[in-house]
Amino acid sequence: MKTYTNLLLSISLLAAACQSGARNPQKEADQKTSAKTETVQDTLHKNAAEAKTILARKEVPVLCYHQIRDWKASDSKRAHDDIIPPANFKQHMKMLADSGYHTILPDQLYDYLNYGKALPAKPIMITFDDTDLDQYTVGAGELKKYGFKGVFFIMTVSIGRPRYMSKAQIKELSDDGHVIASHTWNHKNFAQFTDQDWKIQIDEPTKTLEKITGKKVEYFAYPYGVFKAASLHKLKEHGFKAAFILSTKRDETYPLFTIRRIIDPGTYSAKNLYNSIQKSFNKKS
Ligand SMILES: [Zn+2]
Repeated sequence: MKTYTNLLLSISLLAAACQSGARNPQKEADQKTSAKTETVQDTLHKNAAEAKTILARKEVPVLCYHQIRDWKASDSKRAHDDIIPPANFKQHMKMLADSGYHTILPDQLYDYLNYGKALPAKPIMITFDDTDLDQYTVGAGELKKYGFKGVFFIMTVSIGRPRYMSKAQIKELSDDGHVIASHTWNHKNFAQFTDQDWKIQIDEPTKTLEKITGKKVEYFAYPYGVFKAASLHKLKEHGFKAAFILSTKRDETYPLFTIRRIIDPGTYSAKNLYNSIQKSFNKKS
């Protein structure tokens, strides 16, 4: 692109020099128009190539956690996917550390996907959804043992409620180097957003979290992992750099807004998790 622009500039200068004796304003105007048209086409082409490049890069494993607590008799079997007993969570973090994984944060993943910037060996991202208090009391402490950092996708309506994190706890996580990100106001399905929801579910939670942390909120996780392709460009317009889904297929136009994550279910052994990471993220795209 740069080479092409330089070439175009040289040609224009050459043309200008040749015409210095007899200027032809119409011809100059035509040349300018044609250069402008080609630049727009180039830009469109470049954007398409970027999505392709991003999709071609090796995916970084991203794990998703919800509640970290022992199961209760009242929990449904389905809920066991989203509830990991603390003993299992501890074993899984230890397995990641013993296997040589290094946690990375969204800015690193963004720079890698967008610009090809290098990542540490065996990169992995650990994310937590829904603001549950045990992510602070159990989760963050376990991460600390191994120098791991995580991403907390906060549903702002729950802040300060019983069994959820408080503002002070969220601020502490942020100050410790974890990333605080958005997970809407009240977990409304992104695919069902109305115009008003862009304010309620997106802009206001961003403001709330930025006020708590004093840092910019630039990453988003879709409730239930559900997105709507036609609305992805809007997240970019509302200030987000990237967004996370679950283990479904990425969008071919907006891969940065459909970064895949896998749930580490409470039923998994550490070995199951290790195998699941290899299976989901180590295949060629
Ligand atoms: Zn959620």
